[in-house]
Amino acid sequence: MYYISTAGEGLNSPPLQGETVADAVVIGGGLTGVSAAYHLARAGADVVVLEAETVGAGASGRNGGQLIPGLRLDWEQAARDWGLARTQALYRLGLDARDLVWALAEDCDLTPGHLYACVSDRHFALARAEATFIRETLGFDHLDVVERAALARHVTGGGYAGGLYDRLGGHFHPLKFLRGLARKALAADARLHEGSRVVALEQGRNGVTVRTATGSVRAAAGIVACDALIGGLSPHLARAIMPVASYCIATEPLPDEQAAALLPGRAAVADSRFALDYYRLSADNRLLFSGGETYMHTPRRDVAAFVRPHMLRVFPALADARIDFAWSGLVGITPNRLPQIGRLGGALYFAHGYSGQGCLLAPFYGKAIADHLRGDSDVYECLSALPAFSWPGGDLLRGPLYTLGMLYYALRDRLG
Ligand SMILES: Cc1cc2nc3c(=O)[nH]c(=O)nc-3n(C[C@H](O)[C@H](O)[C@H](O)COP(=O)(O)OP(=O)(O)OC[C@H]3O[C@@H](n4cnc5c(N)ncnc54)[C@H](O)[C@@H]3O)c2cc1C
Repeated sequence: MYYISTAGEGLNSPPLQGETVADAVVIGGGLTGVSAAYHLARAGADVVVLEAETVGAGASGRNGGQLIPGLRLDWEQAARDWGLARTQALYRLGLDARDLVWALAEDCDLTPGHLYACVSDRHFALARAEATFIRETLGFDHLDVVERAALARHVTGGGYAGGLYDRLGGHFHPLKFLRGLARKALAADARLHEGSRVVALEQGRNGVTVRTATGSVRAAAGIVACDALIGGLSPHLARAIMPVASYCIATEPLPDEQAAALLPGRAAVADSRFALDYYRLSADNRLLFSGGETYMHTPRRDVAAFVRPHMLRVFPALADARIDFAWSGLVGITPNRLPQIGRLGGALYFAHGYSGQGCLLAPFYGKAIADHLRGDSDVYECLSALPAFSWPGGDLLRGPLYTLGMLYYALRDRLG
């Protein structure tokens, strides 16, 4: 996988052995869990992180690296429903999440600039209206409307109708960022165990006990941070998340002129379709392109053959470029595409369902739980008050119903 081959040394943390006691136990070594652990450890708590495989084995170490600021809300509707002050506060939180990642980022190829590229005039009109509302009514000025004629400054392919350039957005190497954060957590005395899959969760009067095949942790509080990979560990959490497979390829390193001819400003790009294309240049000048989604439980195996046509539709000039890496991962999607954060009961917390925006939001949600456990609950309260739903249909029907819904959106994509 591209990120593993370019991220340097892994963490090589030993599996949990025997019984131990801690202030908090975190299940899942992705951005949510590692951020929660880092912020708790930095505040002096004794934290244990249990990761089933290796840190970054889930979505956090295999994503597109696109840094797209903000919560996904219809802001005009939000202002009508909740009033201007609450809407502005929520919008500010989305930018705080962005600032958190920028503050934590070290040696992870952080590059500024993100373009939302509209595939139709209708999408562009909606995007323009939203940017105007955000600037003029909410008072946040970071989105530049890019007319069709000016798009070539950012992207030369795709035939887009226009776009929004986000000056606060960008992209990074997700695995470098995550391992860096895990190292910061270790330096603050967090205890990390890879190869430690939690097989049982128990809540008692004095906290939680979690068990792996080779040990257990008893802690005053627990944080479940497994997102789309929750599996059978919590059927309740699983009902809120639809795992959608997303597919990525990396070309061979491109000559400087060719890379600059595709994405002159090196911004990341995501298009406005529901099943979107998103892409960017890596620090070593590869085009990292993601396109096509599937809603089956098992991801496709022919990833390069599946994604390449999407890439060539945007950049036909890459017909001869070698594809060096291809991979997939599961994105955790909620019904309203808003992340969810809360308490499973007792002292067991969770955050998940970033619906394609976890690079910025997952570290923030992890921190929100850490802050809440330390007694600073403002952000946690704000985020946990957002509307949260489960997918309809029960365990058997959820997949088929979701597929039907996706087919509807795919049809809308084709109609523009
Ligand atoms: C292909 C792909 C592309 C994406 N592109 C982007 C993008 O460009 N921008 C963006 O913002 N977001 C993107 N996302 C989404 C983003 O990566 C996620 O929202 C985010 O990484 C979720 O972080 P997390 O820590 O909650 O979950 P994860 O990173 O999935 O971590 C969960 C961890 O829990 C572990 N685990 C599961 N069960 C157990 C257990 N029983 N015991 C112990 N550990 C367990 C897993 O091994 C895993 O490491 C993408 C996702 C994918 C898959």
